[in-house]
Amino acid sequence: MGSFTALALRDEGFRGPITVIERDPSYARSSTALSAASIRTQFDTPLLVEMSLHGAAFLRAHARDMAFREGGYLVLSDPAGAEARAGLVAMQNAAGAEVALLDRAGLAARFPFLNTDDLACGAFGLRNEGWFDPWALLSHARAGARKAGVAYLTGEVAEIRASGAAVTAAVLTDGQEVPCDWCVIAAGAFSAPLVAPLGVDLPVVPKKRTAFAFGAPLPGDGFPMIFDTSGLWVRPEGAGFIGGIQPPAERDLHDPDDLEPDHDLLLDAFWPPLAHRIPAMEELRVTRAWAGHYEMCTLDQNAVIGPHDRFGNLLFCCGFSGHGIQHAPAAGRGVAEWIAHGAYRTLDLSPLGWRRVAAGEPLLEGMIY
Ligand SMILES: Cc1cc2nc3c(=O)[nH]c(=O)nc-3n(C[C@H](O)[C@H](O)[C@H](O)COP(=O)(O)OP(=O)(O)OC[C@H]3O[C@@H](n4cnc5c(N)ncnc54)[C@H](O)[C@@H]3O)c2cc1C
Repeated sequence: MGSFTALALRDEGFRGPITVIERDPSYARSSTALSAASIRTQFDTPLLVEMSLHGAAFLRAHARDMAFREGGYLVLSDPAGAEARAGLVAMQNAAGAEVALLDRAGLAARFPFLNTDDLACGAFGLRNEGWFDPWALLSHARAGARKAGVAYLTGEVAEIRASGAAVTAAVLTDGQEVPCDWCVIAAGAFSAPLVAPLGVDLPVVPKKRTAFAFGAPLPGDGFPMIFDTSGLWVRPEGAGFIGGIQPPAERDLHDPDDLEPDHDLLLDAFWPPLAHRIPAMEELRVTRAWAGHYEMCTLDQNAVIGPHDRFGNLLFCCGFSGHGIQHAPAAGRGVAEWIAHGAYRTLDLSPLGWRRVAAGEPLLEGMIY
């Protein structure tokens, strides 16, 4: 988010100095590096569909560099969820997506590896959905920003300093002070503690999510990113597959230091519904597991983007709740427009702004896996 914002600022004509402060230039623990890096137009919130369409256009323009594979998402529904799914597909298509609603027979014909016994339908993205290389995306933004004269400073922000209604500087743990006219909070899952001392209660917490990489006796060709009725996700990756599932609530803690994969999830929660839905995956061989942090917005599972109400030069670009990498081009552009022009010029991102947080009025995004 920081790099895309910096790059977009230059695109919007901002000529002043820009500094991205990053505590770990290896990005090893960043959500971006640990992401499943998939993009979909299937959301509950129409604005997110539009943000994804911009992300997809960006990825398509750099398809080879980003290893963008437009394999589609398949969101499965049981009979109880079928009517709501059809309504969502209509909304998504009205917002510009290209999603087909397949009935049970259509699912069985197109995806013969699925057990469709308990399904009513599935929504399949025909375009603008798939997966890509998160490193390539980050490298593109970072290299572009550097080329455009953006400075990258290695250091950990300890404090954001303010005077009256304006933020004045970021202070690093080594005491260095970086003065600013504008400050964008793009510290992912770790954004809230940065603004808490200013009396700003940003509802963003780290939530650990484990991903498993595995081989299975099934070709990846024609296999989409599947969101199952059980809550699991699975998609092809290289010669095998990756997938995951949310931990049960009692194990879903906010520990910013914990990035140990939850191996027990495999047998407790992931594998049984996976083998039910895709019988060929009864036999799977796990090759690797890793964990990253979702930057969960506890208000409504949606990002917080744009200016704070009291500190007008403090902007947020965080809390993307596990679906942010695909929105980095649209979010960075929006923040840059706000700084350079004082208003959003392309997509109006104000529904994702601070006002709803201050008012406690959620813009609930329910499609979170
Ligand atoms: C397992 C997993 C799967 C995911 N799958 C998808 C997906 O399929 N599609 C999708 O769109 N999204 C997905 N996401 C979410 C996506 O990765 C994030 O929404 C996105 O990467 C957030 O980017 P960011 O720049 O806000 O945060 P980050 O990438 O975490 O970057 C924040 C940076 O801030 C730095 N930082 C933090 N605190 C400080 C400080 N005090 N001082 C200096 N630097 C600091 C960190 O080191 C980090 O590099 C997934 C996430 C995970 C964990």
